[in-house]
Amino acid sequence: MPAQFDINELHWLLDIVQSIDVGVVVLDRDYRVEVWNSFMENHSGLDAAAASHRSIFELFREIDESWFRQKVETAVMLGTRAFTIWEQRPNLVRFKSYQPITGLADEMYQNVTILPLRSTSGDTDHVCLIIYDVTGVAVNKRQLESANAQLQELAQRDGLTGLLNRRYWEQCLEHEFARHLRYDIATSLVIFDIDHFKAVNDTYGHQTGDEVIREVARVTRELARETDFAGRYGGEEFVVLLPDTGIEGAAQFAERLRQAVARIRVDYQGELLSFTISLGVACIDSGMTEHGALVEHADRALYQSKEEGRNRTTIYSTERS
Ligand code: GH3
Ligand code: MG
Ligand code: MG
Repeated sequence: MPAQFDINELHWLLDIVQSIDVGVVVLDRDYRVEVWNSFMENHSGLDAAAASHRSIFELFREIDESWFRQKVETAVMLGTRAFTIWEQRPNLVRFKSYQPITGLADEMYQNVTILPLRSTSGDTDHVCLIIYDVTGVAVNKRQLESANAQLQELAQRDGLTGLLNRRYWEQCLEHEFARHLRYDIATSLVIFDIDHFKAVNDTYGHQTGDEVIREVARVTRELARETDFAGRYGGEEFVVLLPDTGIEGAAQFAERLRQAVARIRVDYQGELLSFTISLGVACIDSGMTEHGALVEHADRALYQSKEEGRNRTTIYSTERS
């Protein structure tokens, strides 16, 4: 083995890795560049002569100096490799990405290995950085994540209205009910059903019926808060769960909704159709042990609204029901 195995041997080894598609940089203990391969030349626009003996922090101002120094010094002290991965830090140095699919990644994602280089005297007087371009992997993973998020969102929504579907809405109810039990937070439910909807279908056809359902959903979405859970419970039956809302607040919301729906006009061959809804309101009370009871109470109040002539809001009460 040659006497000066370390850096001299590394030089000709680096001649070989010139053709490899990874960045190789060797730094001295003052963080000055000693080796700079063609990957680095191509991506930084600086040739080896221009980069030579310059501080890495001067060449790449984006490097978080104190973080990087600590990472390198620890690797040197322990005499072991250190890694940085794109999930934690997208890149060490800012290089443009030449991904064919534009818009997904403007910058190269990188994994970096920090390799302490020991000389024959036993001192670690150089550090090698190996920079891997992992943009392809990162973009694929990001795409997959966003596709999954979209799928999940789709699985939670009702196709006709875009409101939460019943299955997912019931999960939200369960979750909110548990939250109520733990923190005793007021939670209310408004349930409502379109009045004489069969007649809409029978007279104007199913498509017009669908349009009526969509319009009711649109108005519901407009009036509900971001934190409310609005769902399609059945064919023309809807639910809005109102977290942090007592019975009076819920009843006010129900009335606003009733009036807003009564103002909707749906066009049927030039004829403007109007329609109404009946609503039931209930809140979680101290005696409730499971979430089904809340739906049952609101449903009973809704039934009473229907009984008493429709187009009205009823608040659940033990005396009347
Ligand atoms: P009420 O005032 O008592 O509620 O009378 P109603 O006629 O509305 O009675 P009900 O609530 O039982 O009516 C449900 C009808 O809704 C029956 C069904 O054909 C219709 N329906 C359910 N889902 C859909 C849908 O997705 N599209 C359309 N167009 N109609 C639907
Ligand atoms: Mg109905
Ligand atoms: Mg119904």
